[in-house]
Amino acid sequence: QDNVRNKIIEAHELAVKFYHYILNNTRQGDEAKRYLIERGLTDKLIDQFMIGYAPGDWDVLTRFLMNREFDPKLLEKGGLISAKNEAEGYFDRFRNRIMFPIWDKNGKAIAFGGRIIGEGQPKYLNSPETMLFTKSKMLYNLNFARPAIKKAKQIVLFEGYMDVIKAWSADVQNGVATLGTALTEEHCMLLKRHGDEIIICYDGDSAGQAAAYKAIPMLERVGLKVLVALLPKGMDPDEYIKSHGTDAFRYEVIEQAVSITKFKLIYSRKNHILSREEDRNQYIVEAVKIVAELDSSTEREIHLKELAKEFDISLDALKQDCHEFRLQQQ
Ligand code: ATP
Ligand code: MN
Ligand code: MN
Ligand code: MN
Repeated sequence: QDNVRNKIIEAHELAVKFYHYILNNTRQGDEAKRYLIERGLTDKLIDQFMIGYAPGDWDVLTRFLMNREFDPKLLEKGGLISAKNEAEGYFDRFRNRIMFPIWDKNGKAIAFGGRIIGEGQPKYLNSPETMLFTKSKMLYNLNFARPAIKKAKQIVLFEGYMDVIKAWSADVQNGVATLGTALTEEHCMLLKRHGDEIIICYDGDSAGQAAAYKAIPMLERVGLKVLVALLPKGMDPDEYIKSHGTDAFRYEVIEQAVSITKFKLIYSRKNHILSREEDRNQYIVEAVKIVAELDSSTEREIHLKELAKEFDISLDALKQDCHEFRLQQQ
């Protein structure tokens, strides 16, 4: 069993180098390389993350590894190749895709994420679940991020590969991402083992914001302190860095991450049109409910004072409501 695992890892390590070589040194890799450069990646980043390219042929990797005495059954088990349905033989799982190697926390290559060049579906294809790769327990980049996480005691949680990689270039090297699955309890426990504080930096679209909303209680439950980084509407971290630059990302997005109370207030605010009286009143009630979740009475008072001031309501009335919500919440 250990032998099988080691062989699968060895095959992945070779595949990483193979795909990376094709991207950098062959005509077949030109288009993918240009695409990556156009998206703002540098040669240095491409090397650091060993990004590669799987060409369109049906079995380049299959032949490459079988020539090196790898058993195709083992390669299939590892998720690198598939058996043909109709005929004898095997073919590559990844074709015509930009390849992001996925390493385990000790830096061993165990899987890939493959992106189509440009538009098309599915945008990303990941390795299947294997004896080495369990998506619900894996975080992309945890291997490289560990030193920075240890130093800062803080982790930044992204949605995608590109976000992690671009953030790295902005000196945000404590970033990790889930791999095309929603955040699980196992992810949360893994995060807690490595850090104390987490900054959720999901996409600025409604799906990303809803996912952040869901992730908050899960992360709090394992005892992490949670902050949320806010991005302009419809932008993800990678797009933000492309249009505003690395410094802006670091200093205006990551360092300005807000508390979960602030995040919930902003989120609720976006769902109401404050110029309409009824909507405005609804927002105020919802805001007080959010504030009521805070354990610190000082913090509650700070937020209630802001609300009182903004909407010209007496602080006493807000405090009274807040008190009642707290009784209900218990
Ligand atoms: P890019 O910047 O390359 O367009 P992205 O990371 O912004 O990619 P999103 O659509 O925001 O792409 O998706 C976030 C993450 O979800 C991806 O990085 C990938 O891990 C995963 N994902 C997206 N689409 C798929 C898919 N079709 N199948 C599996 N996983 C996917
Ligand atoms: Mn998205
Ligand atoms: Mn995105
Ligand atoms: Mn993106």
